[in-house]
Amino acid sequence: MKKTNAEQNSKKREQKAGNENMTINNCFSSGNFIQDIIAEDLKNGKNDGRVHTRFPPEPNGYLHIGHAKSICLNFGLAAANGGLCNLRFDDTNPSKEDVEYVESIKRDVRWLGFDWEERLYYASDYFEQLYEYAVKLVKEGKAYVCDLSPEEIREYRGTLTEPGKESPYRNRSVEENLRLLEQMRAGEFEEGSCVLRAKIDMASPNLNMRDPVLYRILRVPHHRTGDKWCIYPMYDFAHPLSDAIEGITHSICTLEFADHRPLYDWLIDAVNPDCRPQQIEFARLNLSYTVLSKRKLRQLVEEGCVSGWDDPRMPTISGLRRRGYTPEAIRNFCDRIGVAKRNSIVAIELLEHCVREDLNRRAPRVMAVLRPLKIIIDNYPEDEVEWLSIDNNPEDPNMGSRRIPFSRELYIEQEDFMENPPKKFFRLAPGREVRLKGAYIIKCEQVIKDEESGEIIELHCTYDPNSRSGGPTSGRKVKGTLHWVSASHALKAEVRLYDHLFIKENPEDEEEGSDFKKYLNPKSLEKLTGCMVEPGMEGALPEERYQFLRQGYFCVDKDSTETKLVFNRIVSLRDTWAKIQKKARDS
Ligand code: ATP
Ligand code: MG
Repeated sequence: MKKTNAEQNSKKREQKAGNENMTINNCFSSGNFIQDIIAEDLKNGKNDGRVHTRFPPEPNGYLHIGHAKSICLNFGLAAANGGLCNLRFDDTNPSKEDVEYVESIKRDVRWLGFDWEERLYYASDYFEQLYEYAVKLVKEGKAYVCDLSPEEIREYRGTLTEPGKESPYRNRSVEENLRLLEQMRAGEFEEGSCVLRAKIDMASPNLNMRDPVLYRILRVPHHRTGDKWCIYPMYDFAHPLSDAIEGITHSICTLEFADHRPLYDWLIDAVNPDCRPQQIEFARLNLSYTVLSKRKLRQLVEEGCVSGWDDPRMPTISGLRRRGYTPEAIRNFCDRIGVAKRNSIVAIELLEHCVREDLNRRAPRVMAVLRPLKIIIDNYPEDEVEWLSIDNNPEDPNMGSRRIPFSRELYIEQEDFMENPPKKFFRLAPGREVRLKGAYIIKCEQVIKDEESGEIIELHCTYDPNSRSGGPTSGRKVKGTLHWVSASHALKAEVRLYDHLFIKENPEDEEEGSDFKKYLNPKSLEKLTGCMVEPGMEGALPEERYQFLRQGYFCVDKDSTETKLVFNRIVSLRDTWAKIQKKARDS
């Protein structure tokens, strides 16, 4: 066990239970079955009262919202129990891994609000120690070098209904195995010519126990160890033993590893380290209308279906961040979905609900017109500009107010006008009145159209000078209130509207031989280039978030420049989560 654990743990426990809980308590406010196991272990004095978890990503892609669940759980459980959580890269397959991924993972974990302090580890740090464990297994007759080809190994393994067949190399002597393992390490054999296997039980009902491969030859340089190694440990070998080396007490993973648990325990027993971590499985997060698999997400990036790992439609942490999600919203989401032992699909509307709830409190309100329609107020003085005061957030008076210009020529939203409206249309129409938010009541007097196309070019209106918000007849009621911007003051902006990345609720539920990509939503991105926003937004910086009145929550994109503002719509204002919950309850 590393020196890190025991003393460090107790020293930091009191301090952490107080401090760190503050920042992450919303990741772990509700109890769950893993917390129950830990509480029981603490009560029984197991692991000397230590709680030590880890988040073990493989650096072969960017993290997604499913990983966020695992991060919140591992760091959250540690914090809630006065324990520690490591960040460990499971970098045992150099052919798929890259430093770009390592850096992005660190950035994402930090952004989510978690701190591994000095406990940043790599499975590759343990290659020498792991090799020594392999030698120990060989010496005790628990592992052997096998020359069967990968295909033969598969054939010999048998099936769920048929037992496997023993490899003809299974009974090599310890001396021969030791020599061969050394030669493997020394690079004397071709890739694929032999492997090191555990000697367990070819008749086991659990396929993972039928002499699993522990080491294979890979002539691929590693992003950290370079050319030092040409044999690499398999995940199933490296993972439990890395846990043991780090003194992990509770090794939390997803359900598909339940069948690997006997092997996990077998290896820990065989190596007999000081620390005996316990593997606990929970249901992975699945989210509707998206895929959560690094392999599939990588495919979308590599085949150009999205603009990159941080495309705002991607369920990656970096995509959600660029889109405008807050770490608080994501942590709150992870808290609300809870921890279960059965797989299910969580409605993406819950994630959207969480960010709405957070931004409703925090995001300043501004006016932006996405599809502008010009109106001219004929009875308003030509060169006059009034600076009207508007609240930044009616939910929070502390956020103060700002002044916005009102003038004779304005833009309103095209969809807020109808020439021949149905009865329930409470917006602008010929002869009808509406209030302009924070300003005056106006009345539509005349519609100007293009003679040839018949398209509406502009509206001529009149205003009621006494109706100004706060003015003599400001209480006069009209049915609708519209957002607007002053035409000569507004800044032009590009706004990107997003819809679900896939049209199918579960795109991974594929017919035999079909491709999940065929369910990609062709309308997942709509770019509006002629939007008009109020002048106060000049100089808005990437990751700043706003509520555009009546439109939704928006975030300045990294493509934004001093001369051209670019916004992402995070979510619209329409919250369908309650409806979905009700539907689920009723069915
Ligand atoms: P993917 O299938 O997306 O590649 P993975 O499990 O291969 O995921 P890892 O980097 O190995 O990715 O995962 C790191 C940790 O995150 C593991 O403990 C894994 O169990 C957990 N994890 C991965 N996906 C999910 C998910 N959808 N929900 C919850 N936890 C997850
Ligand atoms: Mg994995």
